Amino acid sequence: MAIPLVDLRAQYVAHKLELDSALHDVIDGASFIKGKAVFEFERNFAAYSEARHAVGVANGTDAVRLAIEAMEFEPDAEIVTVTNTFIATAEAVTQARARVRFADIDRRTWLIDPKSIRDALTPNTAALLPVHLFGTPVDMDSVAAIAHDRGLKVIDDSAQAHGARYKGRRVGSLGDVSTFSFYPGKNLGAFGDAGAVTTNSDDVDERIRLLADHGRLEKYEHLVEGWNSRLDTVHAAVLDAKLRHLDQWNASRRRIADQYSELLADVPEVEIPEVTAGAEPVRHLYVIAVEERDRLRQHLAEQGIATGIHYPIPLHLQPAYRHLGYARGDFPVAEWLAPRILSLPIYPELPDDQVAFVAGAVRSFFGRS
Ligand SMILES: *Cc1c(COP(=O)(O)O)cnc(C)c1O
Repeated sequence: MAIPLVDLRAQYVAHKLELDSALHDVIDGASFIKGKAVFEFERNFAAYSEARHAVGVANGTDAVRLAIEAMEFEPDAEIVTVTNTFIATAEAVTQARARVRFADIDRRTWLIDPKSIRDALTPNTAALLPVHLFGTPVDMDSVAAIAHDRGLKVIDDSAQAHGARYKGRRVGSLGDVSTFSFYPGKNLGAFGDAGAVTTNSDDVDERIRLLADHGRLEKYEHLVEGWNSRLDTVHAAVLDAKLRHLDQWNASRRRIADQYSELLADVPEVEIPEVTAGAEPVRHLYVIAVEERDRLRQHLAEQGIATGIHYPIPLHLQPAYRHLGYARGDFPVAEWLAPRILSLPIYPELPDDQVAFVAGAVRSFFGRS
């Protein structure tokens, strides 16, 4: 048996006619940039995310960058994000000419720790950039309380959390701006790079549309200098077709995650993160923490089970951020987690017997039947 971490082909095969037809319509219409499907998807994704606006952009990194750019912060503005995330979150801050400040993770949820956010605040802090990592919404009430106290903006990186809810509200409607990636392996994935931002602010929506399309109002009238960061029509058509299935796929992910949690519940060597109070996660990743991570990983690989590590090096210890002056010991929880965290296979089409096989292989490593 070979069990991959994700299987993108399984989803394509299951919806081949629908996806082929969506692609064919774009090719036939030959409107590859700003075609009808882009506006349809933006409307449907805004409605799905319970936000007033959605703007399609080129990828999830640009979504974060454009969200920050649209806020027009002072040049020395600092933005607090979490040290355990994909580097794109932090890269986008620097690309938007703001300064990155890191915060630690919470020991129970493994997501950004509001106490650590408070420690990172300075008079120059302009925004908070929490990440709904693994598909689990962060403690947004605490984040919003800090933002409210200090007059800060909240940009939530929702690249792993399409469709998740926090206290009944959809991710995409929680912050001032929410950013999404449609990288192929995400819960909602395009056939290439794609992304979006959602917001309830008419001004932010307008500003991001302008910046993502060469700062133009009319074809050759440019209000400001912008970028080329549009969502291609082919991707929009694929995403619009897939969006109709997202709730069902997320439900499958939840069922798989629950199955893992149940099958591993009596193995004390395996730690499973707590879900944030009031959150309904969408299980982009299923992560565990164990003391002998690398040996367990090897044991699983020998049985044909692929695993991932999200992420092996906290951002504050990455060579790319050495100039920020952080040191080992600055964020003890993230540093505790990094050598222990392991991602088990999860994707909507993963069959139940394979979930049981993976859980059984983890159990056998710890001498359980
Ligand atoms: C995937 C991802 C991004 C970047 O998205 P791209 O579309 O690959 O640019 C940003 N943040 C997080 C948390 C991600 O998982």
